[in-house]
Order: sequence, then structure tokens, then C-alpha cells
Amino acid sequence: MSMVTLGSTGICVNKNGFGALPVQRVTKEDAVYLLRKAYDGGIRFFDTARAYSDSEEKLGAAFEGMREKVFISTKTMAKDVEGFWKDLETSLSLLKTDYIDIYQFHNPSFCPKPGDGTGLYEAMLEAKAQGKIRHIGITNHRMSVAEEIIESGLYETLQFPFCYLATDREKALVQGCKEKNIGFIAMKALSGGLITNSAAAYAFEDQYDNVLPIWGVQREKELDEFLSYIACPPAMTDEIKTIIEKDQKELSGNFCRGCGYCMPCPAGIEINTCARMSLLLRRSPSANQLTERGQAMMKKIEGCLHCGACMKKCPYGLNTPKLLEENYEDYKNVLAGKTLV
Ligand code: SF4
Ligand code: SF4
Repeated sequence: MSMVTLGSTGICVNKNGFGALPVQRVTKEDAVYLLRKAYDGGIRFFDTARAYSDSEEKLGAAFEGMREKVFISTKTMAKDVEGFWKDLETSLSLLKTDYIDIYQFHNPSFCPKPGDGTGLYEAMLEAKAQGKIRHIGITNHRMSVAEEIIESGLYETLQFPFCYLATDREKALVQGCKEKNIGFIAMKALSGGLITNSAAAYAFEDQYDNVLPIWGVQREKELDEFLSYIACPPAMTDEIKTIIEKDQKELSGNFCRGCGYCMPCPAGIEINTCARMSLLLRRSPSANQLTERGQAMMKKIEGCLHCGACMKKCPYGLNTPKLLEENYEDYKNVLAGKTLV
């Protein structure tokens, strides 16, 4: 079993965190079943967010009466102090607990600091002093903000996308966290569904002893896969190295990572799915994307205003409107019966 300690928090768990965003999409009964099964199978770290609709409520229902046996992290997108306390009280109540193990600022566009005028960091300190939160964390998608977070030394954990398609700069974040004893929580270890070999994804994450991947789990089959890695962590074999190298070649350069940082789009386009449709069509059963809902979602690309707002926000420097057009063209061809190559 591979274990990981999340920096100065001292939280030590096996290298399988449960990302509770997808449980929004299943019934409460199914979510509670999955979460309890995850616990019974050895998972101890559960990550949710105020913004994940009823995810917190489902965690609360799953772990009522056994709160101290699990670690729970959640997040607030509050932009002011009033919103911060409102979110925290709501999360505590829905999670049926009186403390959050790691309370995180949810993808802010800047690094909250004491004295920055927002009062947000001071609110974190106050919440910690009151015992309502145990550790202060933050999540982000922006490289420059993540670098500032590490540099600031103000946070005990950083949650950032990290998978085997990571650039050297992203790998440097993991190293920076290690040097500063900041826990690194890896989101999107499957790159939002583009990585389909979870054993390869796990073997990659396992090379970094300060990284805790949180796997977004919606189906029991996916959960079973990750649970099996607790007893038998996949090793970085030559076979897995070949899979990773092939994906790195295929998925390098101008592809959309699905981070959603460019959104919302004024034309209502679901950019983080539409701009990588060609990949989704090829890397998972294409029928999943060709549904009526999928077609309506892609059709919205026709309404692109070419305002350029998405391009300015994309941390990967993508020409998003062009990427959307290319993906839409390909989608229409596949819909018309073109063979996938
Ligand atoms: S350029 Fe098009 S896709 Fe991008 S934000 Fe504007 S309307 Fe949306
Ligand atoms: S276009 Fe860029 S910002 Fe938008 S989802 Fe894709 S990678 Fe993220």
C-alpha cells in the first residue's frame, strides 16, 4: 500500500483520495452506497465543494456517526467574508460535522493573503482558531497563481491538476510543494476523461511521494478499480511506460484539458467539453457523445460570438474558438457516419 502525508497537515492516508464531484450525478442512495463502499475498501480522504450541488449532503449522509474515521476537505468560492462564513456554516451543516479537515479556497483568480483587503485569509485564520477548520488549503487551475501560492507559504495544501501529461512547469509545482512541506492534492489525474488507463495514471502519481490523487468516482466499476490499487498499487512497468509515452505523443500540444477556466461563455457553449470532443469521440465510446443532448451542446458552437474572452483566460494559450470550430466540424462528420480514425 502506498501512503502519502499531506505536508504540514500531518494527514496521512493511502494514495487514493475520493473526488466527490461526480456523486452529484447519482441518487443519494447510490452516492451513500459508493461512499461507504469506498470507506470499507480503505479510502479515507474525501474531497468535495460547496459548489458541487448536493455532494456535501451526500457525504454527510454517508459518514454520519463515523466522522472522525475519515478526512473531509471542502471548498468555498466566496469572494467576501460574509460569503465565506455562510459557505462554511452551510458546509458544516450539510456534512453533519463540526469541523472540516481541510478548508480550501476554490480556484480564486488570485492568492488570498492577509492584508489584501478582501479579509478572506483572515477569515480562514479565524475559522481555524474557532476549530471549525483544521487546515487551510487552496485549489487552482492557474499556473501563475499556483506558483504564488507556494511562494507565499500561507497554505498547507495546494490542489492542482496533475496527470502524466504534465509539463515540466507543472512538475515543478509538485517539487515546490515538497520543498515547502505543502501537501499536493492532484485533481484531474485522468485529465478529465482523456486518460483511460487508470493503472498507468496511478503508477505515474505513485512516483511522487508528496502527491495525493483524488479520483472522481461515479460508478462502482471505477471505484472497484481504485480500491484494488490500495492492496496492489500498479508499478511503473515497461508496458505502462509505453502507454504513457504513446498518450503523451498523442495528447501533446494544442489540446483542451477540460479545466473550464475559460468559462462561462456568453454564448452558453460548454467549452470544456466541446473543445475536446474529437478526443472524447476517439478515447471513449463515441455513442456517449452522439446523444441528442450532445448534439444540442455542440450546436451551440454555431452561436460563438468570437468575443475572444475564452482565449484570454485559457492558461494553455489555446485558440479556443478555432478549436471549437474544428471539433464541431469533426463531430458533424462523425454524426454523418465518418469512420473514426
Ligand atoms: S469566443 Fe466564442 S466560445 Fe469563446 S467566450 Fe466568446 S462566445 Fe464563448
Ligand atoms: S479551452 Fe483552455 S481554459 Fe478552456 S477548458 Fe480548454 S484548456 Fe481549459
